[in-house]
Amino acid sequence: MRLVLDWDGTVTERDTLDLVLQEFGDPEIYERVEAELEAGRMTLNEVIAAEFATVTASLDLVVWHVVEHARVRPGFGELARAHRPLIVSSGFHELIEPVLEREGLLDAVELRANSIEARPDGWRVHFRVAAPCEACGEPCKRGDLPVGVEVVYAGDGHSDHCVSLAADRVFATDELARWLDEQGVPYRPLTDFHALAAEL
Ligand SMILES: [Mg+2]
Ligand SMILES: [Zn+2]
Repeated sequence: MRLVLDWDGTVTERDTLDLVLQEFGDPEIYERVEAELEAGRMTLNEVIAAEFATVTASLDLVVWHVVEHARVRPGFGELARAHRPLIVSSGFHELIEPVLEREGLLDAVELRANSIEARPDGWRVHFRVAAPCEACGEPCKRGDLPVGVEVVYAGDGHSDHCVSLAADRVFATDELARWLDEQGVPYRPLTDFHALAAEL
């Protein structure tokens, strides 16, 4: 069994990208592009690029803010040490690793994420996956799932739609849970990682 986790809103209790955009981004652009995403008129990568182009703060300041405010779901440390999960995120190495370090878990997980160039004229995102997925037609996380082994996936949102359909078992919360309900796809509710570990 391989455990694969989304980061924002899944490992973390709140989406840390939203946390950054609320403090350092442009709320009007945020509202507009999130609506475009919901309507299917922009891809997730286009939305993330547009949102972070409005951030001009220094990386140090933003990392400080994230490390100060991001909380991980209860039980994550024990789960990580026991299973060494693969974390696949649409967020950035530069913002995820400091939180893992704070938790003493930098070496307890495998991390795949995008990266950021914190330019003073607007942050630029370097996307890890550029090729469109055959199933959903967008760059997505499906290609990150290991093959030939049972995959347990946990997620909370848009970036988890396609990949969750390819996992053997899914734990879902928030938007992902509502979306899977609409698709008629079964999942277990994600509450905390003590509960998830008990069901593995
Ligand atoms: Mg998420
Ligand atoms: Zn896909």
